[in-house]
Amino acid sequence: MAQDYYAMLGVRRDASQDEIKRAYRRLARELHPDVNPDPETQEKFKEINQAYEILQDPDKRQMYDLGGDPFAGAGASGFGGFTTAGFPFSEFVDAVFGTAGQTASRGPRSRARRGRNATIRIELDLSECAFGATRELTVDTAVVCPTCSGEGTAPGTHPETCQVCAGRGEITQMRRSFLGQMMVPQPCPNCGGFGTVLPRPCPECDGDGRVRTRRTMKVRIPAGVEDGTHIQLAGEGETGPGGGPPGDLFLEVVQRPHPIFERQGDDLHCTLTIPMVAAALGATVSVESLDGPNDVDIRPGTQSGQVIPLYGLGVKHLSGNGRGDLVIHVTVETPSRLDAEQEKLLRELAKLRGEEQPPGKFQPGQQGFFSRLRDAFNGR
Ligand SMILES: [Zn+2]
Ligand SMILES: [Zn+2]
Repeated sequence: MAQDYYAMLGVRRDASQDEIKRAYRRLARELHPDVNPDPETQEKFKEINQAYEILQDPDKRQMYDLGGDPFAGAGASGFGGFTTAGFPFSEFVDAVFGTAGQTASRGPRSRARRGRNATIRIELDLSECAFGATRELTVDTAVVCPTCSGEGTAPGTHPETCQVCAGRGEITQMRRSFLGQMMVPQPCPNCGGFGTVLPRPCPECDGDGRVRTRRTMKVRIPAGVEDGTHIQLAGEGETGPGGGPPGDLFLEVVQRPHPIFERQGDDLHCTLTIPMVAAALGATVSVESLDGPNDVDIRPGTQSGQVIPLYGLGVKHLSGNGRGDLVIHVTVETPSRLDAEQEKLLRELAKLRGEEQPPGKFQPGQQGFFSRLRDAFNGR
């Protein structure tokens, strides 16, 4: 069934070409997707384009009047091939009028805008990262102007409706194109699109609604942060212009290197060097951790490269409970510069253990697992 194109454009069946053109332009402005983006209106916009394509062409109009629908069967396949389905009309207007970036202006825009985010680097020791810390920060930022409370006007005055655009924030300009004349919206040059003007800007902030200042704040850094962690402090950034809401402040953690511990995730690694005899006989040694000294048992026969984990003495997990571990990598120190008596004792020991050295007895062999692990840890 053919559609009633005359009814779509709201014209009589005997309307002149001029009347049809005027009716189409009026509707196109009203139903322009930039003005009315809802799907129902866009559907209507397509329909009036279709109706116009038929009725503005005397041949097609005659065919339609005789009961034929040039679109029937072919589907709504286009208005000159460029404005219907899939091609946003606003792009078409931009292409014709070169108004890209301006057609989005609809109504006055608010003077209040959200403030910018800010980022501050904050250096922390390993133990501050592990257990959390409280810091006093001094930041240079923008705050609401105390004189005008963000309104931007001098005391006793208020923003006034713009006389040029009557508060709409935009003006429409008539442009000519091969489609005829079109009304194209432009931001109002008098008020900058705000719809209001400031008769007397605030002398302190020059109408911006905010002033720069230095402020100090106490921040709590949670346990478990590491190098590169960003902590978001919502609403602690710069106040926005025109009394707009503030942005966020981000703290970027820089973790200072520790002289003893190397951090891998939430685990800490350190190296413990013990004398050969202690490794052979076993010993108890005091090992430093972030929580203070710990007595660690070295079992008799400990080899170089062995690891001793101290569970739960690492860094606190940032999310969830618990902590990482402290992993001790043991290095056995072979004595050097033996005096005569020490050498004699060691030779006796070797004899007792059947380890006197006939030439070529010790063959180079594969490295032990632990020493390879230690070498990997030491980056060798
Ligand atoms: Zn002010
Ligand atoms: Zn204006």
